[in-house]
Amino acid sequence: MMSAAERALRQEVIDTCIKMNALGINQGTAGNASVRVSDDPGDGFFITPSAIPYEEIRPEDIVTMDLGGGHSDNRRPSSEWRFHLDIMRERPDCQAIVHTHGMFATTLACLRMEIPAFHYMIAQAGGPTIRVSDYATFGTQELSDTALKALEGRKACLLANHGMIAIGPNLKKALALAVEVETLAAMYWRTLQVGQPVILPDDEIERVGIKFGTMGYGAVEKAASLGKKAP
Ligand code: 13P
Ligand code: ZN
Repeated sequence: MMSAAERALRQEVIDTCIKMNALGINQGTAGNASVRVSDDPGDGFFITPSAIPYEEIRPEDIVTMDLGGGHSDNRRPSSEWRFHLDIMRERPDCQAIVHTHGMFATTLACLRMEIPAFHYMIAQAGGPTIRVSDYATFGTQELSDTALKALEGRKACLLANHGMIAIGPNLKKALALAVEVETLAAMYWRTLQVGQPVILPDDEIERVGIKFGTMGYGAVEKAASLGKKAP
């Protein structure tokens, strides 16, 4: 029997996907989401089943995966279980993952254009750029490998000719970052219709990141060594 807490967490994965479609940052059965089953980074995670409309998914349909790649056989896990697994393995700072095929993020990803620091909110994604991965077929280890590289030192990346990934300390924050990345992509696209946006320098994005407290221990330590105080 599933505990009430487990049922609620599985439902939160489903609700996150329903919301990403309702928010207009994804559509249909594209995209997927996952969350660790506990705060212990050695534990496994819950992940959406593959290709089932989000409104039809029940908590029992959510697939459990361990960090060895083994999974429950109630449903087929998302075809992107490899990058969910590799991110959960490699990024102890990540508790939840949201993957979308949003209109503007995907448009830029098809153009292989990374998002530069044209707006200070890019610091929410962990640095002065949101990189684009190389192209690899969906669901492959190659896609996972290039996605992880694009995510180095970042909390979000674009996937070439595909979509985007956002990670966070919980599903709410991962979804909020996915909305932010989609918003930045839409704004950047608009600036390019009119001219060339002014790009902010890296040290400004670092300052903003420290203010946000989103750039991880490295930035916090650096701020401390520079005698700066977190706001
Ligand atoms: P799944 O339904 O298998 O999660 O696939 C959706 C997707 O976005 C593949 O990249
Ligand atoms: Zn996808």
